[in-house]
Amino acid sequence: MSFASLGLPTSILDAVTAKGYTTPSPIQMEAIPAVLAGRDVMAAAQTGTGKTAGFTLPILARLSEGKLARPNQARALVLTPTRELAAQVGESVATYGKNLPLRSTVVFGGVKINPQMMALRKGVDVLVATPGRLLDLYQQRAVRFDDLEVLVLDEADRMLDMGFIHDIKKILALLPAKRQTLMFSATFSSEIRALAKGLVHDPVSVSVTPPNAAAPTVEQWISPVDKNQKSALLAKLIVENKWQQVLVFSKTKHGANRLTKFLEARGIRAAAIHGNKSQGARTKALADFKRGATRILVATDIAARGLDIDQLPQVVNFDLPNVPEDYVHRIGRTGRAGSTGQAVSLVSADELKQLQDIERVTSKVLERRVIPGFEPVHALPVSKVNPHPGRSHSPKKPKKPKVGHRDGVRSGDNARGHRPPTKS
Ligand code: AMP
Repeated sequence: MSFASLGLPTSILDAVTAKGYTTPSPIQMEAIPAVLAGRDVMAAAQTGTGKTAGFTLPILARLSEGKLARPNQARALVLTPTRELAAQVGESVATYGKNLPLRSTVVFGGVKINPQMMALRKGVDVLVATPGRLLDLYQQRAVRFDDLEVLVLDEADRMLDMGFIHDIKKILALLPAKRQTLMFSATFSSEIRALAKGLVHDPVSVSVTPPNAAAPTVEQWISPVDKNQKSALLAKLIVENKWQQVLVFSKTKHGANRLTKFLEARGIRAAAIHGNKSQGARTKALADFKRGATRILVATDIAARGLDIDQLPQVVNFDLPNVPEDYVHRIGRTGRAGSTGQAVSLVSADELKQLQDIERVTSKVLERRVIPGFEPVHALPVSKVNPHPGRSHSPKKPKKPKVGHRDGVRSGDNARGHRPPTKS
């Protein structure tokens, strides 16, 4: 199938060809005709599936047929959870719409509001925004939605996770009821479905990966290790496997900084990206990582959302996330567009509960690879996972290990901080 057969106008097809795409991705094949036909869409799709072009291309096509935006009005609104994702969607809009007379702009918090107010003055056909800053701009009368034709909620699950539900509800109340609504989410929890109920009407449902399933091209394994040995193990894995571009997830900003320093001290070029970093520092860290100047990017979940990095070969979970869906989302950063990727998790005994939740949600027992020299004091039990969820067979719950220490005390540490004698 070609992009031309999806019904897009030549001006947009030319931009797609210039970008080098030849074949639409599965989500694009389904979403583009539906959006062009004016239908509401509910799509289960992660970053990496081509979802951005899936909604941007047909929206631009529809907008190019109507009247251009009036002053301070927006005709299409794309809401995203993070600044990074907003910037990337904005770039896509500019790229795909380069042959059209449409105006677009991106607004997000953490930077000056005045230039954004100026950009909105003439009106924009496509406005990409994070929720908080959009409400500020509305309150300052910089933007109006009387002529709004299309609303897109991108990464809706992230927006709920990040506590944007009230902002989203406030924004929805400002929009005309008669409009087209597209909702994209990596997962469809009951909360997301509840939000969707009042939002999309008779939607076309599009799903490119089964909900809560990881991309099949990702090789996943875990390395059981004591918590205090994780940094050293990671450094060893990077060096010995010659990993060149690794996105490492850390649960905390502090942990991300500490790990970055540890790696840098061992001559491994690393940078941290999280909410305490300025927008400039984040943009630079991402750019350096993309061009290979930095080998390791250590990110918190929130900062990593929407990072668009092509064909990322390697993802490492330095800590397991508390929510199993975040695991699915994290590893969705690798193995994109047919290339294979590797997702490795360093798991200490205190993360057993998170590991079991992940194995249950993904219906997969992750392969354990104990690295010589890093054998943990407390082995992780193998989970018994039902590979066919929904069938009558109910898996036995794996026993909790007798770790013999209080929560919060690092396994592998004894009173003097010595390693156990089992070490080879
Ligand atoms: P997204 O899921 O929107 O974040 O897109 C993931 C990546 O795939 C981006 O780098 C896009 O530039 C790229 N991409 C999107 N559509 C296509 C396509 N049809 N062919 C090749 N690459 C694409």
